[in-house]
Amino acid sequence: MSVKNLKKELEKVVTENTIKVLYLCSEAAEKLSLRLFLIGGAVRDIITGKDNFDTDITVQGNAIEFAHLLEQNYPNICKIKEIHESFGTVKVVFALSNEEIELDIASTRKESYPYPGSLPKVDEIGCDLYYDVKRRDFSINSMALSLNKENFGVLTDYLGGYDDIQQKKIRVLHEKSFVDDPTRIIRALKFRVRFGYELEENTKNLQENCLESGMFDNFCGERIKSELKQTFNLNKADAMEIFIRENIYRLADKDIKISEILSKSCESTILKYFEYINPDFIWLIYLGVLLSDFSKEKIAHITQKLYLSGMETNILMEAKTLLEKTDCGLTNFEVYEFFEGFMPKSILICLIKKPELKEKVDLYLKELKNIKIHTTGETLINLGLKPGPAFGEILRKLLKARINGEIFSEEEEKEFLKKILR
Ligand code: ATP
Repeated sequence: MSVKNLKKELEKVVTENTIKVLYLCSEAAEKLSLRLFLIGGAVRDIITGKDNFDTDITVQGNAIEFAHLLEQNYPNICKIKEIHESFGTVKVVFALSNEEIELDIASTRKESYPYPGSLPKVDEIGCDLYYDVKRRDFSINSMALSLNKENFGVLTDYLGGYDDIQQKKIRVLHEKSFVDDPTRIIRALKFRVRFGYELEENTKNLQENCLESGMFDNFCGERIKSELKQTFNLNKADAMEIFIRENIYRLADKDIKISEILSKSCESTILKYFEYINPDFIWLIYLGVLLSDFSKEKIAHITQKLYLSGMETNILMEAKTLLEKTDCGLTNFEVYEFFEGFMPKSILICLIKKPELKEKVDLYLKELKNIKIHTTGETLINLGLKPGPAFGEILRKLLKARINGEIFSEEEEKEFLKKILR
């Protein structure tokens, strides 16, 4: 096998400060004669030329000891931020003159799965690099790049990750991979959609067998949520199509049934109304559409199993409430009242399911939602009125007149107010 040195590629995608920090680590590793590597997704991204990745480093040995040495060696610029003893991982921060660089440093570790779908158990810390890469998800994420002085930039690729990147293939590292950790099925989906890669044939069969076994129906859980979030936040119709077509949805809930056609509509609606959505919440629109045919009880059950926060659950519940409402009305104020108080994300879930509401959603989001009146409770007090329930009614009447276009200017509003008060 030929030796690949990716130093140039590395220098192309990381900042000068990150390179500086990597060299500082390299010097420190020299003192302890430790083997030091950049590992996982970072190496994949260097090969594919993508910048802005997490700088994950692995020490063949004890990362925590190594981090203490870094602190001793560079007392003015290096600080340990977090230590996770049981996994042998540590986060350090380098404060350079103009930037802070964070590094996640892990000890090499060997892992096993006590039962299918369990969290991994750490069997050995400081093992040979081979066992550390063997525990990983896919060949494309199993490569290491040496940071040691004598071979800085040399690639270690025990499992054929480099070729799989060239061939755009996602390949698991052993036959039990998906059974050990079914969240990898969604991770594979994420990488397929993000990079336009395909499942390698045997991996595809293993995925099919794993899902067909029904072992992980309704598996849910926090890690599934995290992967779903990353996958659907890409806003690619393909992700939802594959999710349904290849039965991956069964991991969230085996009863999900929805036409693939809506996936395109999800993607285009999100693009069209992008200004109304925080990109971190895109996935909830996909999830809301996927769950929208279920009852509220069932939605609540699934959101609980996926560890959705109160706010995330609300978005899905509100979408369901909106979908159950029937008559939107014709006047501007009726449209306003129909959507009033609903979050744009819930409104968009409803729109994807009921495209006939498009004109009204546009009217509400682009115009009606932003209409404000000038009169406030204070105005009414200044006019000599006593605060009470009538205030709400008066302000509502003004808003209705304003939204229905009966009044426009502040002057017209004052006139209208006088009329009401009379
Ligand atoms: P991204 O660009 O989406 O962050 P990443 O590959 O860096 O991709 P992380 O979730 O940060 O993803 O994981 C870092 C590395 O840890 C991966 O590259 C992979 O080697 C390993 N890894 C992550 N999740 C798993 C898993 N479920 N099973 C095995 N290895 C995993």
